[in-house]
Amino acid sequence: MIVIDGSTGEGGGQILRSALGLSLVSGKPFQIRNIRANRKKPGLMRQHLTAVQAAAEIGTCKIDGAIIGSTELFFTPDKIKAGNYHFSIGTAGSCTLVFQAILPALLMTDMSSEVVLEGGTHNPMAPPFDFLETTFLPLLGQMGIKIHATLERPGFFPAGGGKLRIAVTPAKELKPFDVCAFSKTSLSAKAVCAQLPGHIAKRELNVIAKKLHLADADLDQIQLEDYGPGNILTIMVRSEQLTETFTGFGQKNRSAEKVASQTVREVTNYLSNRAPVGPYLADQLLIPMALVGSGSFVTGKPTEHTLTNIEVIQKFLEVTFNLKQLDSKRWEIRVQK
Ligand code: AMP
Repeated sequence: MIVIDGSTGEGGGQILRSALGLSLVSGKPFQIRNIRANRKKPGLMRQHLTAVQAAAEIGTCKIDGAIIGSTELFFTPDKIKAGNYHFSIGTAGSCTLVFQAILPALLMTDMSSEVVLEGGTHNPMAPPFDFLETTFLPLLGQMGIKIHATLERPGFFPAGGGKLRIAVTPAKELKPFDVCAFSKTSLSAKAVCAQLPGHIAKRELNVIAKKLHLADADLDQIQLEDYGPGNILTIMVRSEQLTETFTGFGQKNRSAEKVASQTVREVTNYLSNRAPVGPYLADQLLIPMALVGSGSFVTGKPTEHTLTNIEVIQKFLEVTFNLKQLDSKRWEIRVQK
């Protein structure tokens, strides 16, 4: 039995989600202690519990310790079943993070699946739907995996109430990919206000237009009245091989200008690194790449999420990751069997 200490490295929910996905695809049972020990409220929250239950259902697993607040879990996988699934988090917890836990299993079956997820779709500290749709899934497409995600209802944090429908068609043969070159980029931005005054989105876009020198044609202001409340700012950086997505989340007591400036900082850091894979994408590409068994990408200084995820992956799969610093700002991450 693989034993994982959930307090190592990043010490967050990703250790658990990666272990769930990797246990399903490798058939190896695991025990995890100190779940989310480095977070303000450690243990299983609704989103993590839903991820555990979803993984258990897809992999016909035996589980012990799957209750709210639990800091220890035993997980024994069996056969993975493709099919139609519906998981509801019951809070504004992130749907895309639940998806992160079950995706590896859905990729390794020989049939298509459809998953409906209800909860948050645009949460701070989680991949927003736009990141999934524009950045992550097209790269999986380059590996031969067809995934179509539809945002049926946005769910902004803390209100939630969102709904995603995701159709996964596994690849007959997974293809390795290399995302190493940084090509010429073009930028655009979108600001959404849901049941909030439109001047918030307008002020965010004004900051972006000025700081990133964008023209009106590159700016999109969207007003929603049926959902919310919520405010999301998305900056897309398109290059030849991929589109990177950076997100600002409006919050009470945080000015639109501050939200926009922080997001611009993330974009300018990314552009100045001249590394195609941004910090969030880097940790999320590791499992798909490990399942292929070969491939590489260039990113900025590896984050704690990336380093911790590599450790967890190497516990379950017979793969080795090599990290090579290319210069003061760029690292190459390569995986081999
Ligand atoms: P954890 O903090 O362990 O629950 O993991 C959070 C996950 O969400 C990681 O895979 C991060 O890369 C991802 N993530 C957090 N913020 C963003 C963001 N703004 N855009 C895309 N992914 C994100």
